[in-house]
Amino acid sequence: MSNIENLRKVITELKEILPNNSWSENKEILSPYLTEWRDRWRGQAPLLLLPKSTREVSLAVKICNQHNVPLTIQGGNTGLVGGQIPQGEILLSTKYLNQIRQLNEFSLIVESGCILQTIQELADSNNKLFPLSLASQGSATIGGLCSTNAGGVHVVRYGSMRDLVIGVEAVLADGTIFNSLNPLKKDNTGYNLTSLLLGAEGTLGIITAVQLKTYQKPVQQETLFLALDNLDNCLETYKIFKQTFTHELSLIELIPSEALKFVTEHIPKCSLPFTVSSPWYVLLQCESTHNAPLLNIIEETVKVLLENNIIIDAVLAKTIQQTKNLIKLRESISEAQKPQGGSIKHDISVPIGLIPEFITQATKAVEMLIPNCRPIPFGHLGDGNIHFNVSQPQGMDKNEYLSYWKKMNRIVHDIVIKLGGSISAEHGIGILKKEELAKRCDPVKYATMKSIKLALDPKKILNPRVLL
Ligand SMILES: Cc1cc2nc3c(=O)[nH]c(=O)nc-3n(C[C@H](O)[C@H](O)[C@H](O)COP(=O)(O)OP(=O)(O)OC[C@H]3O[C@@H](n4cnc5c(N)ncnc54)[C@H](O)[C@@H]3O)c2cc1C
Repeated sequence: MSNIENLRKVITELKEILPNNSWSENKEILSPYLTEWRDRWRGQAPLLLLPKSTREVSLAVKICNQHNVPLTIQGGNTGLVGGQIPQGEILLSTKYLNQIRQLNEFSLIVESGCILQTIQELADSNNKLFPLSLASQGSATIGGLCSTNAGGVHVVRYGSMRDLVIGVEAVLADGTIFNSLNPLKKDNTGYNLTSLLLGAEGTLGIITAVQLKTYQKPVQQETLFLALDNLDNCLETYKIFKQTFTHELSLIELIPSEALKFVTEHIPKCSLPFTVSSPWYVLLQCESTHNAPLLNIIEETVKVLLENNIIIDAVLAKTIQQTKNLIKLRESISEAQKPQGGSIKHDISVPIGLIPEFITQATKAVEMLIPNCRPIPFGHLGDGNIHFNVSQPQGMDKNEYLSYWKKMNRIVHDIVIKLGGSISAEHGIGILKKEELAKRCDPVKYATMKSIKLALDPKKILNPRVLL
C-alpha cells in the first residue's frame, strides 16, 4: 500500500472511531492552527483531531501507531521554535481537553488544554497562587507549558514548569496511558518518568492532564523600576536584592533603553516612569506571605543603592494600576519589536555573573557582522536568561537581514558555549534549533536522548521533526 493510501485509510478509521465533533477537515477551521504568532512557520495537515478526553487521544494514537502515521501535537500555538506547526502530519490539538479535574489544598489537577490564565484565575479565586507567569499566558496551555518546561518572570522565586508539576497523565506512542497523578509526596520507585515527559516537546508522549502545585498567596507585594548606568551595576543590584530578600525576590528583569524606546513608541498607554532616560533598567518585585516589614527593607535597600551610585533613580509602584503599568513595559517588549522590522532571536542562558560579559561580547560580535543592527538584550536577570534579540538596521531590507539568522545564531551561540551557557534557556529546541543542538549538545546526552526516543516511540510517530 502506498503512503497516501495508508494515510487515507488511517483518516477514515479515525473519523469512524472518534465522535464527529472530535475531528475536522474543514480548511477554514484548520487555517489558524497552521500559522503561528510570528508568522515564521506555515504548515499543512490532512486532518485536525480535537479529542475531548484522554480515551479519545489514546484511541487516535493507537491507530496512528499501528499504521506508522505521524502526529504533530498543538496546545495554544504560542511556541517560539516551530514544534507545534504540522508539515503534512495529522494535527492533534488539545484545545478541548480543558476540564478541571480536582482542586485541593495544595494542588490542582487540570487537563492539558487549559489556558494558563484560566488556571491562575482559578487558583486566585480559591485564595491560592499558581505562580507561572509569562506574556503568552492568555493563550498558552498547561500541556504546552509542561512540554517546553516554560519559565517566565517568576522562575527566580518559584522555578520553571518542572518545579511546579507533581504528576502527569500522558498518552504514550503506542496509545497506552502513563499516569503519575497521585497525592504522594515521596515516591522513589525508579526513573522519574514525570520529569522525563516535561520538556520533551511532545516527542515522548501527549500530556493529557497535570497535577500542579499551588502556593500561598502573598499578602504583600512591592514593585520597583530602577534606572542604571551600566550592566555591572544591574548585576550588583541583583546580588544585593538576592542577599537581602533570599525568598521574597519574585521577579527581576533586565531592560535596555532601546527596548523601552520601542515600547513607548508602539504600545498604547506606555510611558517611561522617569523624566530622563538611562542606558539600562531593572524591573523588580518582592513579595511575602507574612507581615514582615517588606516595604521598609526595600526602601532601605534602595537608599543604599542610590548612596553608592549603583542605581541612578528608582520608582516604587504605589497602586495596583501603577504596578500593572510597570509590568506592561516589560511584557510589551516582544510585541514592540515587530514594527521595527526583522528581529533575529536568541534565547540563551549563561552563569548569572557572566551576563555583562556575554552582552558586551555578543553586542560587539553582531555589530561586526551587521553594522547598525540594534541589539535588544532583555529578560530574566535572576536566571541568567537573556533574550538577545537583534533588530535589523533601519532601512535594511527585512528578508536580506533575516538571511543572516543562522550566521548570527552561530556567532552568538559560540560566545554562549565559551561562557559555559545554554543555547536554549526556556523556549526549547523545536525545529528552529535542531541543527544547533545536534552540533553543540554534549554527545553522551544527545545519544542518550536518541535512545530514549527510540525506546518510547520506535516508529517516530510523535512530533517526528521536533528536537532530535
Ligand atoms: C509573547 C510571548 C511571550 C513568551 N514568553 C515566554 C517566557 O517568558 N517564557 C517561556 O518559557 N516561554 C515564553 N513563550 C513561549 C511559549 O509561550 C511557550 O513555549 C509555551 O510553553 C507554549 O505553550 P502552548 O500551549 O502555546 O504550546 P504550543 O505552542 O502549542 O506547543 C509547544 C510545543 O509543545 C508541544 N505540545 C503542546 N501541547 C502538548 C501536549 N499536551 N503534550 C505534548 N506536547 C505538547 C508542541 O508539539 C510543541 O512542540 C512566549 C511566547 C510568546 C508568544
